[in-house]
Amino acid sequence: MYPDLNLFIDGAWRKSKRDMPVVNPATEEEIGRLPCAERSDLDDALLAAEEGFNIWSRTSPRERADTILRAAKLLRERQEEIAHSITLEHGKPLKQARLEVIRGAEFFEWDAGEAMRTYGRVIPAPQGSKFSVHHQPIGVVSAFSPWNFPMSQPARKIGGALASGCSIILKAAEETPAGALHIARAFQDAGLPDGVLNLVFGEPAEISSYLIAHESVRLVAFTGSTIVGQHLTNLASKHMTSVLMELGGHAPVIVCEDADVQKAAISGAIRKMRNAGQVCTSPTRFFVHEQIFEEFTEAFVARAAATVVGNGLDDATEMGPTANPRRIPTLTDLVDDARACGADVRTGGAQWGESGYFFEPTVLVNVPDNAKIMQEEPFGPIAVINPVASLDEAIAKANSVPYGLAGYAFTNRADYIDRLIDEVEVGNLSINTLEASMPETPFGGVKSSGYGREGGAEGLDNYMVIKNVWHSREIA
Ligand code: NAD
Repeated sequence: MYPDLNLFIDGAWRKSKRDMPVVNPATEEEIGRLPCAERSDLDDALLAAEEGFNIWSRTSPRERADTILRAAKLLRERQEEIAHSITLEHGKPLKQARLEVIRGAEFFEWDAGEAMRTYGRVIPAPQGSKFSVHHQPIGVVSAFSPWNFPMSQPARKIGGALASGCSIILKAAEETPAGALHIARAFQDAGLPDGVLNLVFGEPAEISSYLIAHESVRLVAFTGSTIVGQHLTNLASKHMTSVLMELGGHAPVIVCEDADVQKAAISGAIRKMRNAGQVCTSPTRFFVHEQIFEEFTEAFVARAAATVVGNGLDDATEMGPTANPRRIPTLTDLVDDARACGADVRTGGAQWGESGYFFEPTVLVNVPDNAKIMQEEPFGPIAVINPVASLDEAIAKANSVPYGLAGYAFTNRADYIDRLIDEVEVGNLSINTLEASMPETPFGGVKSSGYGREGGAEGLDNYMVIKNVWHSREIA
């Protein structure tokens, strides 16, 4: 069920002289060969995207919306096939892959609606003049999506670009190409004009440096690590090109003394292991009031240790492998370092199984502030649980990292909630839930977690430029 892998340029599928293997992270077996774009492919994609922009930016918002909705419908109809490909290439449980396909379709459906709401405004002007503000598509978008959500991450970028009237060249993750490829197929079948959406793969640094330097590229949209985001922002700044950066997170979870301890602990342990912890909003640093610390930790550790790990194609599996072999030494090093600093490894802490890139569900307790994991995003199935004496201490610890993407709290006290809203430095704060974003809510970070928002009424802002018009009836 895994698709034939191709580049998609100017409305046509193509191979390349070079290719690379795509590997199932649960079995380490090769499941496909991915073509790597050459310079000539990138030149073709740039030309196609320029022409695509000329066509698409002049297409009416309703026609754009209709095309996006047709593609979203096809994605829903193809849910089973797409979910299966995602589980093969990424490893996540099939039921999570199915939900991801629907979430991707929902992102498109939301953006389609927003295509018709890119309102400008009229500013009161002197007699004989009119002042008006217009939002117009920014131009060709060069986008880079990561491997943790092979379908919904590309959907964010493609939806924003196409709804705004931009064309896009997407370099999706080489580890997980099928999600983006299924999206391109759906848009081709939905009648999107050639060149509006182009999909390439290859050597990430080679592609990004070439595309970002091109004068027709007007926005760089990236989701991934802060360090790569900084690098791409530097490249873009040389050409005064705009950036939309969704970068790392290291989400705090503040558990107050009034919280329902059992429910918060179970929900935390389940949510932490979702996608094997490879989520930028993954709840990682649990700061638990000392009065409930023991009870919370015991319940959390028991549920984390009971997580069913295995191949995502097995119905019972709750957590699959990590997405690539790079994760295992990184996670092992974070655990070893925390242990050396004095942390208590209450469960897990090592690679799991004989083959595949699995890591045990891991809970570290009483982790000193100088351990690397207190500053570095693990991007894996590792939770930290530390006691705190007060809300002041919890908020200070929550804010003590350079990241500010998602933050969570469990409490029903109105005075605590007011303070959390005012003082926790994040782009997305969730209280009594570990869900962080929906298509209709704006998602993005503060501090080193990035610039710009995806989704919500703000979701097209980065894809558009503002033009102010002064129309004088007489020549002044
Ligand atoms: P990485 O930093 O090497 O790569 C992250 C992503 O950026 C990948 O998709 C990669 O293909 C891409 N990339 C890397 N260099 C690039 C370049 N020069 N130009 C364009 N794209 C480039 O890390 P990794 O080992 O793949 O992933 C681990 C880290 O990445 C994690 O610690 C996490 O912080 C981050 N990450 C974040 C998200 C997210 O949703 N914010 C998603 C995936 C990975």
